[in-house]
Amino acid sequence: MANTTKITEQDLQKSLELLGREPRTPFMVKTRCPDGSPQVLLADPVFKEDEIWKPFPTFLWLVCPELKLKAAHLEQDGLIRIFSARLQEEQGFREEFIDGQKAISEIRMNMAREILGAEIPQHIQMILTRTTIAGSMDISGVKCLHAHLAQELAFGNNPIGKEILARVGNCSGEHERKQS
Ligand SMILES: [Zn+2]
Repeated sequence: MANTTKITEQDLQKSLELLGREPRTPFMVKTRCPDGSPQVLLADPVFKEDEIWKPFPTFLWLVCPELKLKAAHLEQDGLIRIFSARLQEEQGFREEFIDGQKAISEIRMNMAREILGAEIPQHIQMILTRTTIAGSMDISGVKCLHAHLAQELAFGNNPIGKEILARVGNCSGEHERKQS
């Protein structure tokens, strides 16, 4: 992950503003919009709650307001269902998708090992190795286009995210000051 930039105080403020909530895990800026603001955040895939470590498989957050809006529009157009059907029906598309999810599982497990050491509890391993980037145990459970787009931007290897990018293009770098 040589491209990952360490988070500065300014990044942190901007990220929290874009997220609109207090995240439960530490995160880094993985990709940036053309104006330099955080685009995809990479969070720790595990977090501690009540003294117990828990898995956090949906560890990539798309925070670019422009791409979030475009992804939301595609969701309204029914693209979640269409991609889900394609994962069930098109073998090549499914295989490419599964390869990308295996890569994501490895990245999550490597990050978890760095945080927890070699002994990763079974319940964490199970979730980090078996769920998709959108947090689904079902490979064709697309759930949320934002997660797939975030993977494509951050690590590649996501045919759903790739098609979304081909349709809407990357961020123009002209974030609106206010959403109307
Ligand atoms: Zn952007």
